[in-house]
Amino acid sequence: MKNKFLIISLAMSGFAFSQSIDSTCVAITSKNTNCKVKVNIDSTKFCHHHANGNTIIIKSTQCSGISKSTNNQCKLKTKDESGKCHHHRK
Ligand SMILES: [Zn+2]
Ligand SMILES: [Zn+2]
Repeated sequence: MKNKFLIISLAMSGFAFSQSIDSTCVAITSKNTNCKVKVNIDSTKFCHHHANGNTIIIKSTQCSGISKSTNNQCKLKTKDESGKCHHHRK
């Protein structure tokens, strides 16, 4: 087990949280990969999926964004915490 405290120092476009440092959940998913869900490392090392110590598989879900061209829900699958594919994330 190695603790992972990756400080994301990328200049993120969009949201900026002045009080918290973005870091990723230190839990390991059942696929044996590092959980990539961002957490506020000041208050927790685990995302809400892993708050109880479980390992989980992040299932892909349908993007909740709306397609600009058709006005229908985006059909792409995403594993992102936001529930949106890369097109619809800010
Ligand atoms: Zn997690
Ligand atoms: Zn989408």
